[in-house]
Amino acid sequence: MINNLPVKTLAHKDLTIEGYSRAAVQTYWRIPELKIGFDLGAQPWSFMGTPTWFVSHTHMDHLVALPVYVARRRMMKMEPPTIYLPEAAVEPTRRILRLYSRMDRGRLPCTLLPARPGDEFELSREQAVTVSATTHTVPSLGFVVWQRRRKLKPEFHGLPGDQIRDLRLAGTEVTAEVRVPRVAYLGDSSPAGLDACPAMFEAEVLIMELTFVSPKHRKDKIHKFGHMHLDDLLERRDRFRNELVIATHFSTRYHPNQVREHVTKALPDMLDGRLHLWI
Ligand SMILES: [Zn+2]
Ligand SMILES: [Zn+2]
Repeated sequence: MINNLPVKTLAHKDLTIEGYSRAAVQTYWRIPELKIGFDLGAQPWSFMGTPTWFVSHTHMDHLVALPVYVARRRMMKMEPPTIYLPEAAVEPTRRILRLYSRMDRGRLPCTLLPARPGDEFELSREQAVTVSATTHTVPSLGFVVWQRRRKLKPEFHGLPGDQIRDLRLAGTEVTAEVRVPRVAYLGDSSPAGLDACPAMFEAEVLIMELTFVSPKHRKDKIHKFGHMHLDDLLERRDRFRNELVIATHFSTRYHPNQVREHVTKALPDMLDGRLHLWI
């Protein structure tokens, strides 16, 4: 086991959330059970087995480890990974990889795919990811991971199994898809980006940035730079339906104790215990 970077871990039901995020330092997350990760600001050695990544935006502390990640997977003889990026970033990233490949004298095999607001990617029969626009200083995206299941339609409830089978054999669609938003990832965004995607408030787990927490830091300025303030979370406290809200991406101006003090003062109940400070 090689520990090259800080990683925090939290279990929620059948999911493990792993990652680290500090504004302007580095941001990386993954959920091993879902086989996906968010952002590549750095790449812990243990993360390379995750084959599919969604990049929220192109600030360096969210993207710069992409070549390292691709190279490690090749070196370890793993399948080339798939990385979804904001559409405008795909070509520049391809060029960077080409240049790096030349300097490093090693191939960097991977699939880079464009993601746009409104897109939906079917990763498997059970899993889909939807994309929403967020509001930051560069083109930026938020993601929701949905679990998809086929369930018997209500009108067929109570029917014996052989009748349902006969209906199905006769071509009747007896099941409908049921979707559960499991994990939402906001990335860097001012509150408008969160509000634009109602599923973020419904997902079982929401990972959201909360860059600023001090009352001394001005909200209008923070919003202009595409970030959140603790007051924004307070204003929305009744909207969060999530089982777990992970607040993260705190500014380096704050010591971890300051973050805890500001948040517990403003929100003593920590959203009924659902709010988790990732610091
Ligand atoms: Zn950031
Ligand atoms: Zn950013």
